[in-house]
Amino acid sequence: MIKKANQQPQGPTVNQLTHKDNDETILQFTHQQQHKTGDLLLPSIWILDTGATEHVCSSLSYFSKYQFINPIQIKLPNGNFSVAHISGTVTFPNIFSLDNVLYIPDFKYNIISVQKVSEALDCKLIFDKIFCVMQDPTTQRMIGLAKANQHLYLMHNPCVSHSNSICNSAFVSKTQNKNMFDLWHFRLGHPSYQVLKIVKKHSPYVEFNDNTVCDYCHLAKQSRLPFPVSNSKSFSCFELVHMDIWGPIAITSIHGHRFFLTIVNDFSRHTWTFLMKSKAETRKLIHNFVALIETRFNKRIKTIRTDNGSEFLMHDFYAQHGILHQTSCIETPQQNSVVERKHRHILNVTRSLLFHSNLPKVFWNYAVSYAVHLINRLPSPVLNNCSPFQMLYDQSHTLLDLKVFGCLCFAGTLSQN
Ligand SMILES: [Zn+2]
Repeated sequence: MIKKANQQPQGPTVNQLTHKDNDETILQFTHQQQHKTGDLLLPSIWILDTGATEHVCSSLSYFSKYQFINPIQIKLPNGNFSVAHISGTVTFPNIFSLDNVLYIPDFKYNIISVQKVSEALDCKLIFDKIFCVMQDPTTQRMIGLAKANQHLYLMHNPCVSHSNSICNSAFVSKTQNKNMFDLWHFRLGHPSYQVLKIVKKHSPYVEFNDNTVCDYCHLAKQSRLPFPVSNSKSFSCFELVHMDIWGPIAITSIHGHRFFLTIVNDFSRHTWTFLMKSKAETRKLIHNFVALIETRFNKRIKTIRTDNGSEFLMHDFYAQHGILHQTSCIETPQQNSVVERKHRHILNVTRSLLFHSNLPKVFWNYAVSYAVHLINRLPSPVLNNCSPFQMLYDQSHTLLDLKVFGCLCFAGTLSQN
């Protein structure tokens, strides 16, 4: 059912999605009453557009299946540019399906290209002042019907079929019926609503809902963070790194790990974790890490801050590399607060991932590694809403390659093998 708009338009309405030869798609929705056409913003309303060369949908929840495509740059009506990364199929139940629909979250309207739909369905469209009838030219059977409203022809698609959505990852049974809001919350390791709000600014394809309640978060994040935010501040990467060991962990991992070494770069907050079977591995790992930074980033670590653990005491090594070793006072872990807080964060996300995936606890090593991978890609208010990855590599990154931890996957074998 199409609701009537509260206000009538007063000017001409032009909707055009044009495709330029230089592969830049321009979306020219120049409806002069955009701000008054609240009903057009309903996610179930689709506008039949004679000027459009592509179908466009603003919500992933409408796609029965979709795939990632080579990015297509799109110019929005307000002059800004957006990039379509996703194309897929939208089904109008018992009517027809539209293929090659571009997902553009920045565009608030859903568009059906008249030219594309008539070609794909091999149908004719008959317009009068009340309806647009889509008709099979051979059988004369009506395929679809759009109703005139505010000088536009609108179709209603009630189908928001989250459960039918197929993306390029398969889910474990527990998540099969979750909608897109939940999907992104799960993919990103159960971040808070505030973090998702920031993520959305950088990655508009991420969908979230502040009303969603997640049982796994309640289970995993009961403890409060007892350590204050550190006042220390460095002004470049690797000027200061924080290190600490977590463990021994009561349950030995499936590969025999009982500890992990955490290294946090103070400036970027980028984190590395190294799984260990015993604390004796610490020294070798620090040696390797210092070498890694010199080779990969062409930088030298100036200061390493740790607690008083004996495994961090390597005076000769620090002197040889010109590294200043700072230690916190005995029984005062608060002085190592950056890495202590990072441990809490890692463990919270790890618990969420394990609870949600329902994996046995012996797989904690995988959960810890993936938690750190996610934390490095999520924006933080401490970093002016940038992610540690952005701060370290000075470049943006996509979240589209993330999967839900514990999801079902299939191993492939190269044909030549
Ligand atoms: Zn959660």
